[in-house]
Amino acid sequence: MRRILIVGAGQCGLLLGHGLLRAGDYDVTILSARTPDELRRSRPTSTQVMFGPAVAVEQRLGLDLWAGDTPDIAGLHWTVAAPPGGDRLDIYGALDTPARSTDQRVKMAGWLELFEELGGTVHTKEAAIGDLDEIAESGHYDLIVIAAGRGDLTALFDRDPSRSPYTTPQRGLAAAYVHGMGRDPDTDLWPNVTFTVLPGAGELILIPALTTTGQCDILFWEAVPGGPLDVFGDRPGPDEHLTRAVGLIREHTPWLYERCAHLELTDPHATLTGRFTPTVRRPIGELPSGGLVLGAADALVTNDPVVAQGANAAARCAAAYLAAILDHGDDPFDRDWMHNTFERFWADTAERVTNLTNGMLQPPPEHVQRILATAARHPEVASRLANGFADPNSLTDWFMTPDGADRYLSQVAAHAGQLAV
Ligand SMILES: Cc1cc2nc3c(=O)[nH]c(=O)nc-3n(C[C@H](O)[C@H](O)[C@H](O)COP(=O)(O)OP(=O)(O)OC[C@H]3O[C@@H](n4cnc5c(N)ncnc54)[C@H](O)[C@@H]3O)c2cc1C
Repeated sequence: MRRILIVGAGQCGLLLGHGLLRAGDYDVTILSARTPDELRRSRPTSTQVMFGPAVAVEQRLGLDLWAGDTPDIAGLHWTVAAPPGGDRLDIYGALDTPARSTDQRVKMAGWLELFEELGGTVHTKEAAIGDLDEIAESGHYDLIVIAAGRGDLTALFDRDPSRSPYTTPQRGLAAAYVHGMGRDPDTDLWPNVTFTVLPGAGELILIPALTTTGQCDILFWEAVPGGPLDVFGDRPGPDEHLTRAVGLIREHTPWLYERCAHLELTDPHATLTGRFTPTVRRPIGELPSGGLVLGAADALVTNDPVVAQGANAAARCAAAYLAAILDHGDDPFDRDWMHNTFERFWADTAERVTNLTNGMLQPPPEHVQRILATAARHPEVASRLANGFADPNSLTDWFMTPDGADRYLSQVAAHAGQLAV
């Protein structure tokens, strides 16, 4: 029986751990920094919108435990706000399969308990590099996977400059989980994620979700550093956080204020602030005594959450690593296998996710502006776009390049012309 250690009980680590348990023939241990109860009582870690393909990974592993409780998100409502006096652009894109946001505090705690019930081993410990070195030296495990997110263990993995265009954070993040938000009055596409772009200043994202106290909404500001929305840098307490978040809505997106006029925080720890530099790292970490560990998901590919991709990519990373481990049978998990396993995940998923996300942190290029303007008039274009965020690979040939956009928009125009005849 092969013995696998997964460090980090998050979106990727728990999916991988459950997948290996279900496969049988694997002795799986997860090192978790916190107990399930501590996870539930902690601050939020994400806004975790999971699109259909990522939800399907969870379903396949028997882990879609909150279906029916978590709101099914029917689509995306983008607004590009114009300078004062200009027209706003509103786009409504229906999703083919619903997205969901189940608070990671709920989800990881539940999955961790289930993992133990199903026969997995859990050790509660925030592992330092020295601990991992001792564990690797003991030779007990055939493979150690570091799925510890953006924490200190990223120090094990060198930054890959060729895949990391940024050297500073591109957004200040400020999320608050709230009860009392009104519904989007402008559309039947409900529940939806309402995504508002304030050019040059940042984004506001409103997300229906499930949290520890029931259904809720998340009010999530993404602020361009130093700009007018960047007012959470001093990490205000929860009440002050909410006051500032709603104050920004009144000032910068007043058409959304009515929805947000009577909000209450969902729990005493319902806010999250921070900022980090989007970074891609090399996949193999070498411990002081020479042992090798393989990084996974955010530990290697840390993207800004502006287009809600990290947890989705983490689910796909878990699925990809699971398949690679199972395919490898009894062969040693050596450097080549680790390298190839990550490179396959990069080529199949992470590269396009990273390119999309890094692109969306910049002002939209001209061809994207044309797509958005067309999407505002054509629901099928808006829907294709929404489903493109669910599967960024599907954006490649029409959204990511000017030529592709030209071809696609000509087809849309020709089709619209035929309909008009
Ligand atoms: C504000 C915000 C909003 C976001 N919104 C979205 C969104 O809407 N959609 C989306 O797809 N993605 C979103 N993301 C990104 C998403 O949350 C992450 O990409 C995803 O959770 C990464 O999964 P992971 O398994 O790599 O790491 P995580 O889910 O972060 O899990 C890592 C786990 O390892 C634990 N850990 C850390 N260090 C150690 C250690 N030394 N020893 C033991 N355990 C350790 C941590 O406590 C944690 O439990 C958002 C992120 C942020 C910050």
